[in-house]
Amino acid sequence: MPRILIVEDEQKIASFVRQGFSQEGFAVDLASDGIDGLHLATTSEYDLIVLDVMLPGRDGWSVLQEVRKHRPDQPVILLTALDAVSHRVKGLTAGADDYLVKPFAFSELLARVRNVLRRAPARAMEMLRLDDLEMDLLRHKASRGGKPLDLAPQEYRLLEFLLRHLGEVLTRTRLAEQVWGMNFDGDSNVVDVAIRRLRRKIDDASERKLIHTLRGVGYVLEARD
Ligand code: CA
Repeated sequence: MPRILIVEDEQKIASFVRQGFSQEGFAVDLASDGIDGLHLATTSEYDLIVLDVMLPGRDGWSVLQEVRKHRPDQPVILLTALDAVSHRVKGLTAGADDYLVKPFAFSELLARVRNVLRRAPARAMEMLRLDDLEMDLLRHKASRGGKPLDLAPQEYRLLEFLLRHLGEVLTRTRLAEQVWGMNFDGDSNVVDVAIRRLRRKIDDASERKLIHTLRGVGYVLEARD
């Protein structure tokens, strides 16, 4: 899950941006002034920082400068109400990766964030792999043998969970609890149905099957010879 820090003092903007990113599967931290923002930016790890320019305590320019001293490669997008060319130039030369003028649509910010993240070196933990099955958590994409997989949200979460627990026998109870967040009801076939769908997408076209059933117990994801 990519982590993002939002440094924004306008509560309305902060909360709609936070909500938007949460819905897109980001882990979001929020700071409402430059001092807290700088503290979080230099003591935690973020994939990206969305930084407002006009902030109480310490303005965005100075936060950015200070962040750059500690984290030269930290991706940062600046937000500002000042739509002047000189500010745009100043933002980019001060080391921001991109710049967005208020007011903006969340979809625009999201597109820019994705774009900047694509250029940033992906952290190893954001790629999950087994055989020729790949999951790119940052881009929210999965593929097998280089072919993209079209997964529903539950199938995506299920596959991520299986890939994080390679070779482990996962009971229906555990999958129901940890992927669906529900108490497993012995009569429910929600897990089996989702596994069947996932299998169709992942294994049907391949010689080498990756999802295996342990009858009466559960499932295991592994590459067998
Ligand atoms: Ca502001």
